[in-house]
Amino acid sequence: MKAWQFHGFGDMRLDEVPEPVCGPGHVVVEPLCVQPSVTEAQLAFGIPTLAYQTIKHRLETEAPVQLFGHEFCALVVEVGEGITRVRPGDRVAARAKLPCGSCPLCLEGRDHLCRKGPIIGFQLPGCFAERALLPEIALVRVDDRISDSEAACLQSLSDSVAAVETAGLTIGDSVAIYGQGSMGLECLQIARSSGAGLIVTVDVREESCRISRELGADVAVNARADDPVAAIKTLTHGTGADKTLDTSGTADGRLIAVRGAKPWGTACFVGEGGDVTIEVSPQMLRKQLTIIGSWTFSTTIQADCARFIADNAIDVEHLFTDRWKLAQADEAYKLFDRQTSGKGVFLM
Ligand SMILES: [Zn+2]
Repeated sequence: MKAWQFHGFGDMRLDEVPEPVCGPGHVVVEPLCVQPSVTEAQLAFGIPTLAYQTIKHRLETEAPVQLFGHEFCALVVEVGEGITRVRPGDRVAARAKLPCGSCPLCLEGRDHLCRKGPIIGFQLPGCFAERALLPEIALVRVDDRISDSEAACLQSLSDSVAAVETAGLTIGDSVAIYGQGSMGLECLQIARSSGAGLIVTVDVREESCRISRELGADVAVNARADDPVAAIKTLTHGTGADKTLDTSGTADGRLIAVRGAKPWGTACFVGEGGDVTIEVSPQMLRKQLTIIGSWTFSTTIQADCARFIADNAIDVEHLFTDRWKLAQADEAYKLFDRQTSGKGVFLM
């Protein structure tokens, strides 16, 4: 069968590789649709980001190696011994980060935060191939009402559902979201369908602000043209937003989330990487501000997320800007190593 293999950073080739062999607790799937992530695209070209050392080590010691393709929708074609939850013919999506099953976090029921289990596409081969071998524990069955491309987004969308939950959104809360890339646009729609009141979004790209308005933002502020904190305060009668989120991972975005939140409010950091400096007394302590991080999702949240998509509460199709065939992976990665406002999918 054909699979994309990395022979080094920036050197990906569509190679002939052996068919996967189905063992106990595992299934073989045919990928139907794969969504490339920005992190993967950056790693493909050796740009230091999350998991850079892991990928570098694997390339230095194991190349050629099958990497990435962890956000997908696939068709089960064969099941191994002991498989009970899925059957051949089922469509499945996955949670890429697998629990180890034995660390304190796994044992206390927070297995989604486990840092010891393998990750599909990083330690295990992902779905940039004609067929892939996956452990059953990673899989969720996909509702018939959800399209292949929507299912491939379940993971990133579940992270967004988790972020809005972690921020503690309650009905009528005013919300400010910095960053209107795909995750920010998801958080916007989830906040809207979860009962948020006023929603103000902020981005530095006019195109992202335009899409944000189309998807339900009451006001989308272009931070290059206007002061976003002043705008948030004006729109909230001088107090600041009840809940703020930063999906950008930038120092500017995080600071706007902190400064734009009202006293006794919550600022939730979602975007990965980087750092931020805040003035603790005026910006946090004297506001009794809660600053909280949100990283990833539980199985329960993934089920909520699938329901949101099936009920059409979240417009996922609107977020797609690019569609490719499997043979175009290198081209897609070149495009995706730049942060874009949309999502792309491989239709296999
Ligand atoms: Zn664990």
